[in-house]
Amino acid sequence: MSKNQNDRMEKIVSLCKRRGFVFQSSEIYGGINGCYDYGPLGAELKRNVKEFWWSWMTRRRDDIEALDASILMHSRVWEASGHVGGFVDPMVDCRTCKGRFRADQLDESRCLKKPSKTPAECGGDLTEAREFNLMFKTSLGPVDDGSSAVFLRPETAQGIYVNFHNVAQSARRRIPFGIAQIGKAFRNEINPRNFTFRTREFEQMEMQYFVRPSTDEQWFETWKSDRMDYYREIGLDAESLRYVEHGPGELAHYARAAFDIEYLFPFGWKELEGIHNRGDFDLTRHQEYSGKPQTYFDEETKERYLPVVVEASAGCDRTLLSLLCDAYDEEEAKGGNTRVVMRLHPKLAPVKAGIFPLVKRDGMPERARAIYDDLRTRFRVLYEQSGSIGKRYWRQDEAGTPYCFTVDSETMADGSVTVRHRDAMSQERIPAEKIAEFLDEKTRIS
Ligand code: ATP
Repeated sequence: MSKNQNDRMEKIVSLCKRRGFVFQSSEIYGGINGCYDYGPLGAELKRNVKEFWWSWMTRRRDDIEALDASILMHSRVWEASGHVGGFVDPMVDCRTCKGRFRADQLDESRCLKKPSKTPAECGGDLTEAREFNLMFKTSLGPVDDGSSAVFLRPETAQGIYVNFHNVAQSARRRIPFGIAQIGKAFRNEINPRNFTFRTREFEQMEMQYFVRPSTDEQWFETWKSDRMDYYREIGLDAESLRYVEHGPGELAHYARAAFDIEYLFPFGWKELEGIHNRGDFDLTRHQEYSGKPQTYFDEETKERYLPVVVEASAGCDRTLLSLLCDAYDEEEAKGGNTRVVMRLHPKLAPVKAGIFPLVKRDGMPERARAIYDDLRTRFRVLYEQSGSIGKRYWRQDEAGTPYCFTVDSETMADGSVTVRHRDAMSQERIPAEKIAEFLDEKTRIS
């Protein structure tokens, strides 16, 4: 990472803590590596990211059903999926600094004794690489006799595959159709890094689309382009998004074709989402391991077959981090000051508007409070009356709040308020009774 980009990342991390987007998990106990907590602004932003994805998948179209599967599943699921045998990363230990590193990412890691060097450069004594399974194991019930072992799911997708027939039958769906799910996944990453980019507990937003064999390539192309549209629509800079295709030697065991969508983070191009043509691998394996037929009878073609799956698997936390990185901006202002502004899309912004009285007298606080009370059950808005109006605007710029409505002497005379826009800092007046309509139009997700 260049020094500039490193500084930028440090500023984003520090803003996240200061303004309540993201905190280190268990911070008062010294923290726990690879786990983070979302604060008041972060939790709202995360809800909006999930809502945006959910709406994109399940409201905009009419061929996708919802699912919320449990995190703990039968341990045979993970044998069938290949995770028990193959969900491993190569790991090396350094006998000199006692660090533990991913053998395939040594050039991105730092020696614990000489942080300016990588473990490959520092001359440390590295062990041979060995395989490390990334699944967290625990046991079900009070007796831990080995037969009760279960795993925290490392991906949400398997919950969808094992429910394919339940969903198809209960929702009376015919192929092609998809199943969407948002939920936590857990991976015991060897080197969690880059803030919330690679963590041990994270949330996935996955959609698995079930299609007739021979139509999969066409569906793969459809989803590939749809998912890029989604990232542009959510507000990410188009220049900072790209596809990366997995070459024949890089494909996962289940994939016939795979593209990642990557974003240019301050620490480089990194994956946001994987789009995979999984063939019929998953349903074949679950049929084999469960002994329950997984084939589907197609009324249209009168054929029985195993559906082919095209998946779009996105990380919620990674999307959120990309939004924070994309939104962060600094501007030189009068008096040598720097205005920090988070240019989040109004639909995603954690707080939609600040409602302010210009001064604490002449009935303005009461009027502003009444406007706030009227809005707050429909929109995430905030009321603030202390500090100069300029300072209040700047505080909201840093939080990514796209609009502020100020009650001033004109409001008391004609009922209009000032709307102050975060990005251009421009101001206009609208009637107070039009604020709800204004906010609804600008910030409604679906
Ligand atoms: P990576 O190569 O970065 O480890 P992956 O290819 O293993 O990712 P998938 O298994 O395809 O990832 O998971 C789908 C999505 O889930 C990823 O694109 C990413 O957004 C998210 N994801 C995966 N692992 C993590 C993690 N450790 N922390 C945060 N998000 C993750």
